[in-house]
Amino acid sequence: MNIMKNNEEGSLKYYRCNICNLTHEVFIKKSIIEGQSKYPFPYVFLHDSMVNGDIQELLTILYIDSNGKVRGSEIQKLGDNNLFSKEQVINIVKPLVEEIERLQEDHSKLTKEIDKLKLKS
Ligand SMILES: [Zn+2]
Repeated sequence: MNIMKNNEEGSLKYYRCNICNLTHEVFIKKSIIEGQSKYPFPYVFLHDSMVNGDIQELLTILYIDSNGKVRGSEIQKLGDNNLFSKEQVINIVKPLVEEIERLQEDHSKLTKEIDKLKLKS
């Protein structure tokens, strides 16, 4: 069992899951919270849950604001066949695409900075 506390690396969030009827914890890195272009942003992950004696994976989406506060949560059961619905896929992929776009922007900014430095030396 990992013991993680709020620190400069990130912070521990608690959310109430109405499927397990439990309060879960999730550690979110500060770099993820600070790296968003829009708030609140969706933080998507899967968590295991015991439902009627079976382990089920639940798709969990936490909406985090710029202060790192959980503003909302959405939990969806995956189907028995473990296939994602179109809506679930969009929820998972959209933040990833936005993250990739942001990284590409950062990359082109850095490339320009490097070129500037090369010209100076
Ligand atoms: Zn749960």
